[in-house]
Amino acid sequence: MRVLDTAALLHWPVTELTGNICAMSQQAELERVSPQRWMLIQAIDLEWREVPVQWLEKARQCAAQSGDLPRLSDVDLDVLALALGLNIALVTDDYRLQNTMNAAGRNSKSVGTAGAKQVWKWELRCTGCRVTQDVAEDVSRSKKGEVGECERCGSPLVLKRKR
Ligand SMILES: [Zn+2]
Repeated sequence: MRVLDTAALLHWPVTELTGNICAMSQQAELERVSPQRWMLIQAIDLEWREVPVQWLEKARQCAAQSGDLPRLSDVDLDVLALALGLNIALVTDDYRLQNTMNAAGRNSKSVGTAGAKQVWKWELRCTGCRVTQDVAEDVSRSKKGEVGECERCGSPLVLKRKR
């Protein structure tokens, strides 16, 4: 039994999917990305779970510690929370999810390619005054672009690998 991210739902053979666990929030995502695949998925035996708030907080905490949090979506956090909360492997090709799982000392498996084992730490760096700060648990999240403004000089913050 494993937690499957949406890439696995899209690309794994249907026979491999049966009996695994997914987050309720993935249903809408899957339906949006591939209505045809969603029809197929509905016919198989998957366990759809709502994510307990405490598990979500734990996931947010782990992702803030590794610094990956600003680039994780709500659905990403849901599958991460399920894998951490249930203490089972997460199937994902998202290197930020893999990195967070590795940093938390948990297992992830890749959908296709070989997964990264090295843990990266990320921090926020100001593009103006270059000051750096750790990623906070209430950081604003988006898949691209800026991740907030510098409190000192107002310039955009970017995510950089910690040295
Ligand atoms: Zn600054």
